[in-house]
Order: sequence, then structure tokens, then C-alpha cells
Amino acid sequence: MEFPFNPIERAEAIEKIVMKNNKRKYYRFRFAPYYGGIVTADTIGCCFLCAYCWNYFRNLKPEKFGEFFSPEEVAEKLIKISERKNCNKFRISGAEPILGKNSFSHLLKILELIKEKFRKFEFIVETNGLILGYYPELIKDLKTFKSFIFVRISIKGWDENSFEKISGAKKEYFTHPIEALKKLKENGIVAWPAIMFEIFGENGLRKIKERLKREGIETEVEIEYLEKYPFVEENLRKRNLVDNR
Ligand code: SF4
Repeated sequence: MEFPFNPIERAEAIEKIVMKNNKRKYYRFRFAPYYGGIVTADTIGCCFLCAYCWNYFRNLKPEKFGEFFSPEEVAEKLIKISERKNCNKFRISGAEPILGKNSFSHLLKILELIKEKFRKFEFIVETNGLILGYYPELIKDLKTFKSFIFVRISIKGWDENSFEKISGAKKEYFTHPIEALKKLKENGIVAWPAIMFEIFGENGLRKIKERLKREGIETEVEIEYLEKYPFVEENLRKRNLVDNR
């Protein structure tokens, strides 16, 4: 893998691996303790390759992992877990749900199927925001679900240089996730940024808050905490990223 890479080209290449017609690769369906309990489909394939990604190896070689599931199959599995656990909060995790138009339609179909089943539910769209920022026209399709979706954009740096080191993607793409956040909010969709505090530190947190303010984005910033697997520590060392707490 060569760093830094063009994340739009990577998104296209990865989408071809993880999508087959309307089916996407997943490797697990589970009930997870986050957000006070959430039904989760774990997928594979991302346009970034963050130093601290807990799913680094699956996202590095997505061709080696997972099986293809249609939106109907995914929704059915999620709904079954939801009934068993009496929980109507959902998410897709482990990778980037939106890599391009194909994976985006797959996500919309899942939302539609869950909406058919539940009058009330919450779906947390965990995204790095690159594709929504690069193709903002996609956001209008999310508006249909704006009473149910909550978009959490994981921001991968406080400036261009830190973004490149953390995400592995070229620095000129730093602004797209911020653009996505801005556009989502303009469209009345609940969205907020999240940052990895151990890497940002107080200084990075202050800088990203200032940057968001300059862009006219008034928001709380969610703090994520690092899962220090040995391979994560090794990746952080290789990219010259230190614990900034
Ligand atoms: S954006 Fe998220 S899923 Fe993608 S590589 Fe980074 S941490 Fe992993």
C-alpha cells in the first residue's frame, strides 16, 4: 500500500471489491453495547486506511474477508436481532458504508426496509464523510430518512497534514468531510463530528473546533477513545503519530 493515496480512486476500487450488484460484503451481525445498545452489521471496505482503524486488516485486504448480502438479507438479520434484544437502534460499522453510488443505494435500501418495519427507529450512519462531501448531491436522498438517521462523521485530522498522516489519504481531501457535515446540517439532517482524542490531544481538538467555527459549523464534538491493539500502536509508530493526551 502506497501512502498517501487518492481516496476517491481508492473508494472506486474498493467498492468494486465489496459490492456485487446490490450485495455488499459483511462479516458479522451483532448486538453491540455502544450508544446504550445498538444492532450492528459489520462490513468491510473503506476509502481511508486510518492508522488507528480497529478493522485495519479487513479494510487493507477486503477481498479476503466477508460474504455478500443483499439489503433484504441485511435488513432481515438486523430486524431479527432487534426483536430479540428489544432494541430499535441500528448502524453499519467496521468500514465506510458510503463508497460510491452503488454502496449508497445499498444503504438506502436497508433504511427503506427498516422503515417499512418500524414506525420509530434510529439509524446511526457512521461515516468518514469523504464521499458525502465529494458528491454532496447524494445528501438529498438521505433527506427522506431525516427523522430516523443520525450522521456521525469521524474527522481524521485537525488540518491537512494531520489528516494525511492519520487517514493515509492525500491532504487535499481534508476539507470534504467538513463540507459533508456542513451540507447535512443545511439539509436539516442531524450530524456531528467525532475525533480520536488520544491523537488530537487538546491542541488538535481546539484547532478542529476553530476550523469548524470558521466554516460556520456550530456543533459539539464527540470524543472517541483509542482501542490500543498492538497493530494499532505499530501503525501509529510507523506514521509518526504519537499519543497526544
Ligand atoms: S475511516 Fe473508519 S473504517 Fe475507514 S479506515 Fe478509518 S477508522 Fe477504519
